[in-house]
Amino acid sequence: MGYASFHVSRPSLFSGKSSSYEDADYAVVGVPYDRTSTYRTGSRFAPSAIREASINIETYSMRTGIDVEDLRICDMGDLNVTDTSSEMMERIRLVVEEIVSDGKIPLMLGGEHSISLGGVKALGVDTSVVDFDAHMDLRNEYNGEQFSHASVMRRISERVGPGQIVQIGTRAICKEELEFSEMNPCQRITALDIHRNPIDHTLETLRKMLDGRRRIYLTVDMDVLDPAYAPAVGNPEADGLSPNVLLSLLEEVCRHNVIAVDLTEITPHYDTGATSVQAAKILFESLCAIERHRKDR
Ligand code: MN
Ligand code: MN
Repeated sequence: MGYASFHVSRPSLFSGKSSSYEDADYAVVGVPYDRTSTYRTGSRFAPSAIREASINIETYSMRTGIDVEDLRICDMGDLNVTDTSSEMMERIRLVVEEIVSDGKIPLMLGGEHSISLGGVKALGVDTSVVDFDAHMDLRNEYNGEQFSHASVMRRISERVGPGQIVQIGTRAICKEELEFSEMNPCQRITALDIHRNPIDHTLETLRKMLDGRRRIYLTVDMDVLDPAYAPAVGNPEADGLSPNVLLSLLEEVCRHNVIAVDLTEITPHYDTGATSVQAAKILFESLCAIERHRKDR
């Protein structure tokens, strides 16, 4: 390495540096897919925006005492997007399956929320899914589309069963979803539950919900945060969580066996970068908390 190695950086890498795939514990994959977005489109631009934010925030986690710089992360780039949603899900499934079978934790940067279905399909049917989202995403279909972002948890419930889904931050629902979830109960901590109880109580409730679960797929739909903090999302909903509360809840989730993570629904053109900064922080803190758990075992 000569002169160029000091003066050339690769700004597209998540957190600014990359281990080789062989050495990595965490594999980042961008999924710039937003074909079924209905209101504010453009989450295809989010993987780049999250990477850019991740390069420009500090990497040390005060919550865990771990520095993201010390983690072995490989940024594998972005998946090529296809026109058909079923083919897209299959492509995601193959990539996530390969990463997990190589003993690494995949970290998908969406894209819209429907990508989680591909990720969950890569894992065993005994996988629990922890879903941070303002919405239930339990419609059978939306605009005639069964693989819609608004139906993703319905499809996932068909795979792993509603009892293996834990939804957190719920506050925006429709009658069809309410009826479905009365017949097919998921575990749920609503935004109101969180607002009306002390955080320690909520953390304890969450811990009890997760204890004994074999493995967890963690998905964060960024609209779980209040639009004051994360305005650039596909379907913003008021009365949401604060970043502090979300990070505390994520820290608790990551005390359990999280084996895959995604973060979805950012539409970067709707703000000046705040939502992507929140996303980068969420991912950094989650990775550090997962790392701490892996070390402790
Ligand atoms: Mn969602
Ligand atoms: Mn949502």
